[in-house]
This record gives sequence, structure tokens and C-alpha cells, in this order.
Amino acid sequence: MGGVGRNDTVIVKEAAAPSRPLRHRALDVLFCSAFALLCAGLARDVWTGFARHELTLLLVPAVGLASFLAADFSSGFVHWMADNYGSPATPLLGPKLVTPFREHHADPQAITRHDFFEANGDNCLTALFVLVPAYVWLPRVDAPWATSLELFTLLLALGVLLTSMAHGWAHMDRPPAVARLLQRAGLVISAEHHARHHAGEHRTHYCITTGWLNRVLDGIGFFRGLERVLAALGVRRSA
Ligand SMILES: [Zn+2]
Ligand SMILES: [Zn+2]
Repeated sequence: MGGVGRNDTVIVKEAAAPSRPLRHRALDVLFCSAFALLCAGLARDVWTGFARHELTLLLVPAVGLASFLAADFSSGFVHWMADNYGSPATPLLGPKLVTPFREHHADPQAITRHDFFEANGDNCLTALFVLVPAYVWLPRVDAPWATSLELFTLLLALGVLLTSMAHGWAHMDRPPAVARLLQRAGLVISAEHHARHHAGEHRTHYCITTGWLNRVLDGIGFFRGLERVLAALGVRRSA
């Protein structure tokens, strides 16, 4: 994979535009709209699934917890990948994934100036990779497990959407009241917790939805282990 060193990061900061080009903005609006439509479709199917399979209602708390853990893990995995592998020049993923995370290290406060579409376009695109197959396949299956899996997918997608907002709130000097409430309840990542990622070499605390999994993943050296596996396969870190 192409390398991006510390000097390149400085170049990225200097070249960063204050807002995305019009083409990227149109894509952000498209991804957010597709996300909203598919979530609405899945929510309707979950609702009718509950009517047919009432026992699945009992699984809602477990499915909700599993989906939020999955969202937190996904946020950490994608964040770790973008921080450490590829470059802004990597086809497809470079401009949409690597560049935003590298720019964020150079200018952490910029995220607080993004509007809804700029903040959520990339995350909505990521969520489409699970929303589209779920929407195409699961409504055709009339079974309790399919309703539970639809609910899991829907809540996971909403958790992914929450990630960019929670990350932005963690960088705000004065987040909205609802954000402060969620931070205090531990339902989204707090500013103090996320500051540990930015305080050092950006090598820990990758999870940015709730941050619940950071202690576990950092404690067992999960990402360092993955890096050793990838290095053994010939894939080297670029940052
Ligand atoms: Zn951050
Ligand atoms: Zn980072």
C-alpha cells in the first residue's frame, strides 16, 4: 500500500479545503437520502415482523445492546484502518475514508464546523453496505430470526450514523444539551475519553461511537495483533 508519513500529513493539512467540492457534496446528499429511505423501509418491515412474531419483542434489549457494541467496534476498526493503512491517493477509499481521518488529526476542531451532510455522508455510505443486502434479502424471509436480524441491521446503521455525531460532539467546547445528556449517561463517547486518542500518537482509543470497547481492545492489544498479522502477510502500515 502507498505510504503517507508525517510530512505528508502536514501537506494534507496545508492543502485541505474549507469544505468539500460540489461533487462530493452531491454524493453526501445522495448517500444520506439512500440511508434514510432504506432505514425507513427496514423499520416498516421490523414493525410488521413484530406483529407476526410477537416473541421477537423479548429480544429487543439484547439486539439493541449487540447492535451498539457492533457499531462501536465498526467505528474502531474503520478508524484504525484509515489512520494506519492506505493514503489519500488510494483508489475509492483514499478520498472518502483515509483523507478525512488524516485531516482530522491535523485539525481536530474542523469536524465541529461540518454540516449534517458533510458530517454523515461517508458514514451513511459505509452503512449502505449492510443496509442494501439486508433490505433486499431479509423481507423475503418470514421467520423470527429474520425480524431480529432486520432490527439488528437497522440499529447498527443508526449507531453508525450516531458515530459521526458523537465524534463531533466530543470535540465541541459547548455540545448541544442532548449530547451532554448522552455523554453523561455514557451512551456516546465523552470528550475526556476521546481526548486520549488525540493526546498521543493516535495509536489507542480508536472506537468513537460509545467508546465502550476501547478498554477491552486496547487491553488485549487487538489492533497491534492485527498489525502483526497484516505485516506477516506483507501489508505494512503507512502512518
Ligand atoms: Zn477526534
Ligand atoms: Zn485517529
